[in-house]
Amino acid sequence: MKKIRIGIAGYGNLGKGVEMAIRQNEDMELAGVFTRRDPATVTVKTPGVKAYTMEDAKNMKDQIDVMIICGGSATDLPKQTPELAKDFNVIDSFDTHANIPQHFANVDAAAKENGHLAMISVGWDPGLFSLNRIYAESILPNGKTYTFWGKGVSQGHSDAIRRIPGVKRGIQYTVPVEEAMDQVRAGKQPELTTRQKHTRECFVVAEEGADKKQIEESIKTMKNYFDEYDTTVNFISEEEFDAVHNKMPHGGFVMRSGMTGENENTHQMIEYSLKLESNPEFTSSVLVAYARALSRMKAEGMTGCKTVFDVAPAYLSPLSADEIRAHLL
Ligand code: NDP
Repeated sequence: MKKIRIGIAGYGNLGKGVEMAIRQNEDMELAGVFTRRDPATVTVKTPGVKAYTMEDAKNMKDQIDVMIICGGSATDLPKQTPELAKDFNVIDSFDTHANIPQHFANVDAAAKENGHLAMISVGWDPGLFSLNRIYAESILPNGKTYTFWGKGVSQGHSDAIRRIPGVKRGIQYTVPVEEAMDQVRAGKQPELTTRQKHTRECFVVAEEGADKKQIEESIKTMKNYFDEYDTTVNFISEEEFDAVHNKMPHGGFVMRSGMTGENENTHQMIEYSLKLESNPEFTSSVLVAYARALSRMKAEGMTGCKTVFDVAPAYLSPLSADEIRAHLL
């Protein structure tokens, strides 16, 4: 069997997670890691595989079937994905929801012009949660969809805490409000405000002599990050921080509460949930499965940009169509 040759562009949490996920998929192999840093400073874990500069990638077009782009959504992917789509079939996990239409248009144009296939916003949200929303809304047109996130670490909110003067270390967990979820499950279809859906829990190590009251106030009143939420701030020691808050867990729930029947009074509830010990390792696993789909769809002649909505589930599985029908139907 000819293996699918994967390139990794960007070797942060996701890049390393993709490398681990490739090891669990026998039909794939890692061809190279591409970085904007000096490759000599980047050690690739997979034996025999090297780190290269982004410029080197252009000379390795014939050695890579799919480039998995693992840069950050804020500033890396809007540039990297359209650029790399000129030379490769590409996939990314772009998660700035409001900018997805613009990102799609940019990547679609670059991929089409060069006869490549691209896929954007592959992960869990956007990604698997998006799939669950489209299934649920198509099946239960009379209903209401809810997405709850957590309990999990929000990188953006954690970064925001760390920028406050006097904060040495900081992490923020987004926590879904149980009572709100229970109301949805009971079929009440409540209108929920931002504050009613999630709370924010912060753990902070303060610099010596820092004004803790001031830090707490700065966090709780921070516009767009915390001011619309009930936020708790816990000051802890650096030892506790290192021992307890050293992982990147996340997850959440997509729920659709719908009504069917002659009088539309039969309650139907769809609920999908994820409990992830490592957000990046899971997101990477999703990216790798969709990279398989991408290589198959490309082999069928598709070009341009796609999202998870365009991928038939059978493309994701390493099993044959016969095997899928026999074992998974
Ligand atoms: P990281 O910050 O770990 O990595 C981003 C980039 O930073 C890397 O590609 C790397 O590029 C660069 N980098 C610079 N210096 C270093 C260094 N010293 N060590 C490691 N990397 C470095 O981000 P994540 O991998 O955690 O996340 C990437 C994006 O994935 C996020 O911005 C988020 O938007 C998205 N995401 C999407 C999800 C979804 O469900 N759709 C879920 C989770 C994340 P280089 O090697 O070129 O320097």
